[in-house]
Amino acid sequence: MRFRRLKLSGFKSFVESAHLHIEPGLTGVVGPNGCGKSNLLEAIRWVMGEASAKSLRGAGMEDVIFAGTATRPARDFAEVSLLIERDEDEAGESEVTRRIERGAGSAYRIDGRDVRAKDVALLFADAATGAHSPALVSQGRIGAVIAAKPVERRQMLEEAAGIAGLHARRKDAEQKLRATEANLERLDEMLLDQEARSGALRRQAKAAERYRVLSERIRLAEARLIYARWAEADRAAEAASGEAMKAQAEVARLQGAMDTARRLQETSAAALGERRDAAAAAREAGRALAHHLATARATRDTAIRRLDELDRLISALSADTTRERSLLADAQAAAAALDEERHSLDQRLASGEAIAARIAADLTKAEARSREAEAVLAALLARDAAMRAERRVADAAIE
Ligand code: ATP
Repeated sequence: MRFRRLKLSGFKSFVESAHLHIEPGLTGVVGPNGCGKSNLLEAIRWVMGEASAKSLRGAGMEDVIFAGTATRPARDFAEVSLLIERDEDEAGESEVTRRIERGAGSAYRIDGRDVRAKDVALLFADAATGAHSPALVSQGRIGAVIAAKPVERRQMLEEAAGIAGLHARRKDAEQKLRATEANLERLDEMLLDQEARSGALRRQAKAAERYRVLSERIRLAEARLIYARWAEADRAAEAASGEAMKAQAEVARLQGAMDTARRLQETSAAALGERRDAAAAAREAGRALAHHLATARATRDTAIRRLDELDRLISALSADTTRERSLLADAQAAAAALDEERHSLDQRLASGEAIAARIAADLTKAEARSREAEAVLAALLARDAAMRAERRVADAAIE
């Protein structure tokens, strides 16, 4: 692997985008103290995945971002890209980029594709290099290599032999193996679980089979039952249809009877109306008759009373007649007496004219009284005849 170009932007003192081309052969960077030569090497280590801020001479990883000067404001991010060239199985150029933003941490890309820090470390480890490669010798590191501990020296030698990548891969493979073992254990557990479930499922399958057979038998029995019910229902339907026809005939007959009854009812209603009218008329006539009867009774009572009255009058008239008859008899007797007296007077006439004249006067008076009595009698008889005629009229009215 060869480094071809280093691109920095916002990294430490490289506020502007800066390109460092690393050509074949020896490349040297010359400058005064503090111009940023060491920053270049730190940029190479940083892009290769350096995780220690201290080894980059900072308190935190964000210290690699340009912190600003008296004349320039600070930047919010730093980005370093390293163009590498590989001549192994995957020959070609790749650009590895690391970017850090304040508050967001680092992100890696290989040829513009987002990758993990581990992938970048592995890429460089495969090429026997990396952020901690002893091939990168920074200021004061020569003494450190000389005074290195055996473990550090071994790492150095391994890297020199190009097996650091194998170590990293072995570590990765071991991790994967452990994960796979854990997965296997989980699989065993799942297998046990699945076996238990499969036993339950077998039991369920048996039950399902039993259920299926029973369902089939039930279905058959139900079909038979339904057929039997259907046949029974068919018979019942036939019987019912016969019954329905009979009922229909009966309904028709009843309908006829109802029509007849309705007509009868209408006739009866009409007759009833007539009868009602007749009854009303009869009631009216009855009321008129009752009224007539009451009037006739009242007339009869009046006639009876009148008859009683007439009876009383007749009795009175009879008494009067009797009295008048007696008066007549008296008058006749008086007349007879007067006749006798006239005879005697006639006899005495001879004896005297005076006596004769007196007697004549008396006679005249007696005759006048007799005429009066006769007139009264005639009036009484006329009245009696009138009463009798009235009585006959009253009797006729009572009848
Ligand atoms: P020397 O030869 O003395 O070792 P050098 O040329 O290697 O010096 P560096 O040590 O690489 O120089 O650069 C140090 C310079 O980088 C200093 O001027 C320092 O102010 C500057 N610097 C370091 N970190 C930042 C930073 N985050 N922001 C701005 N400038 C920085």
